[in-house]
Amino acid sequence: MTAAAAARQILTSLHEIMASRQHAQGKLDAVVDIIGEGLDSEVCSIYLLREGMLELYATRGLNKEAVHVTRLAIGEGLTGTIADNIETLNLAEAASHPDFAYRPETGEEKFHSFAGVPIVYRERAVGVLCVQHVEPRRYEDIEIEALQTTAMVLSEMIAHAELIDEEEVALSDAQTGPSVATGLTLVKGLASGTAVFHQPRITIEQVMAEDIEAERQRVYRAFAKMRDQIDNLTNQSEFGVGGEHEEVLQTYKMFAYDEGWSRRINEAIDSGLTAEAAIERVQQRTRMRMREIDDPLLADRMHDLEDLSNRLIRIVSGQLGTAATQGLQGDTILIARNLGPAELLEYDKRRLKGVVLEEGSLTAHVVIVARAMGIPVIGRLRGLRGMVREGDHLLVDAEKGEVTFRPAQPMIEAFEARFAKNREKQAAYAEFRDVEPFTRDGTRIHVMMNAGLRDDMSTLSVVGADGVGLFRTEFQFLVSATLPAREKQLRLYRDVLDAAGEKPVVFRTVDIGGDKALPYLTSDSMEDDENPAMGWRGLRLALEREGLLKAQARALLEAAGGRRLYVMFPLVSEPWEFDAAKAVFEEQLKFLKQQKKPLPEAIEFGAMLEVPALAEVLDILLPKLSFISIGTNDLTQFLFAADRANPKLAERYDWLSLSILRFLSRVVRANAGHNVRLAVCGEMGGRRLEALALLGLGIERLSITPVAVGSIKEMVRKVDLPELRRAMSGWLSNPPPDIRAALRHWATERGIETD
Ligand code: PEP
Ligand code: MG
Repeated sequence: MTAAAAARQILTSLHEIMASRQHAQGKLDAVVDIIGEGLDSEVCSIYLLREGMLELYATRGLNKEAVHVTRLAIGEGLTGTIADNIETLNLAEAASHPDFAYRPETGEEKFHSFAGVPIVYRERAVGVLCVQHVEPRRYEDIEIEALQTTAMVLSEMIAHAELIDEEEVALSDAQTGPSVATGLTLVKGLASGTAVFHQPRITIEQVMAEDIEAERQRVYRAFAKMRDQIDNLTNQSEFGVGGEHEEVLQTYKMFAYDEGWSRRINEAIDSGLTAEAAIERVQQRTRMRMREIDDPLLADRMHDLEDLSNRLIRIVSGQLGTAATQGLQGDTILIARNLGPAELLEYDKRRLKGVVLEEGSLTAHVVIVARAMGIPVIGRLRGLRGMVREGDHLLVDAEKGEVTFRPAQPMIEAFEARFAKNREKQAAYAEFRDVEPFTRDGTRIHVMMNAGLRDDMSTLSVVGADGVGLFRTEFQFLVSATLPAREKQLRLYRDVLDAAGEKPVVFRTVDIGGDKALPYLTSDSMEDDENPAMGWRGLRLALEREGLLKAQARALLEAAGGRRLYVMFPLVSEPWEFDAAKAVFEEQLKFLKQQKKPLPEAIEFGAMLEVPALAEVLDILLPKLSFISIGTNDLTQFLFAADRANPKLAERYDWLSLSILRFLSRVVRANAGHNVRLAVCGEMGGRRLEALALLGLGIERLSITPVAVGSIKEMVRKVDLPELRRAMSGWLSNPPPDIRAALRHWATERGIETD
């Protein structure tokens, strides 16, 4: 008999055994006989998880006395290793494997070859199915597949027969005890909650098919539907042409129409599996193959195929929708491979406490939005979805970049204590909501906040900021699948101004490009950008795509009818760029005048200082401006030539380094004598010690992340500005070895908390 025929024979017999009325142990005994015979192996054994150990439950070929006697820990011997790593082993010579552990009571010494597969239930190994053979030989792929399919069937039977204790699966220490994994902090903060998968795991209810033809039809219809969905996505003109986005969709399309894939699924159905089980089976096989090939490019493609495979199972089983559509029950930590900003916005903000991603980078759109929503995010946690199960308790420490899975009580308590301390601090700072931030010597400091979404505006009165010093208008573009129409922009700006009331809002014109790429807005020059942070972005892009800036200018001017409008241009590198951008606004203003539309009562124009070169021409630029805002995020990456999105460089350069402080001090001096309001709107200003340094340099306006407003206002009130400025000027001319340490010492001596 060929291996393929043997495999088919095994499945047919399994079907009969499963349908028979024997008790579970009887079925297991019958299964080992069938497999042993089918694969021409002297030995076939089933180990199941019991009390945290893998116990020999049934065997053909090993000493029968060993049944329910031989027990192996997870990770012990070959069997324990298979369960531990949830992986298949196929060895011609078992004893030469480093994990081999000999058990004399089994009498297995005479068997040379060994193959074993995990029996997986709810993503956990609950047992192992293995075969052994006297002659050294590697089992053929088709035989291994027969074993894997049998393991799938067994897992269903085991669960139904209650051969494994679900509680035990849930509590088995080796796989589900507390564990800590470190990723990359993308948005700072602490969060505790229950793990919820963005794409809910699909449960395969039935593995063995009752009517093979019906299963064929189901998978056929699912394929047709999935292909339709993918075609629709690719045909949406709004995604534009070219660019990475299209490449991804093309790959999807290629897989969706891949004959080989659908053929393999059909073959699996022919062998007796349901449509869902067949798709999963084929996916398992692909996963296994891919694991052997160490190629990052292929790994990416694998993710695509995995996504499609999940989509197909979802369609076939009718389990549609993300966790957002099902609604969150309590405090939730969202688990995803990756997430789009729009997908994040679909979640209930009150219940979503944190996000943990397998991928993600500091400047991913979703991270920008999460930051605006105040939701801590940890990313780059490889293998995340294998570490966590739906419903696990998680502690997210997005200060250290750590996620604790299933924490023990003392860990929860320690975390809660930190959490409580943070909350206490926040509550104490909240008391400063209506307090005006004057320094001890009576200087009024302006503490404004950064915003980007309509929802952010309610925060303005909650934290008591003086206004919005930076409204990142590109957020609307980032969360939208298409370029937002002028009317849509107009509505947003009008709502924002209404919400702000008397308080000023500084609208920054779109700052797209670089790390904030839009799939629907690409150009040849952008694709060629090897260094997007220094590429076609910000005002450069806006001036070239004049239509874009025109539409935005009109929307802003109309929205501010009868009110004062503050407009700020990002990434200005030379004064003429400011002039050109301002001219676009003036032209639109003229047009609105002709149309007799209500005009803004006044317009103030400002620029961001983010490109160091601009600092050298302030004498030319400043007379043109009403205000200037230093964007320290970009500025410092250019000063140090250190990509702000590169995690390796994140801690390398200090915002309190002599070069940055001297640079800022020069800008402050250059600005003196001009009637231009000078502010800082980068992340730097939201940290206590850094904000203190900025005050020391003579900066009296900050626009910061909303959560920091209370803390900074509290600090401002403890500062004696002339004294601080004297100290700062001393450090700049006679630098101590560590300015941060010097400043901290200075603050602590004056009862100013530094973090
Ligand atoms: C900055 O660069 O400091 C800034 C505030 O702008 P963004 O972070 O949006 O680039
Ligand atoms: Mg910037």
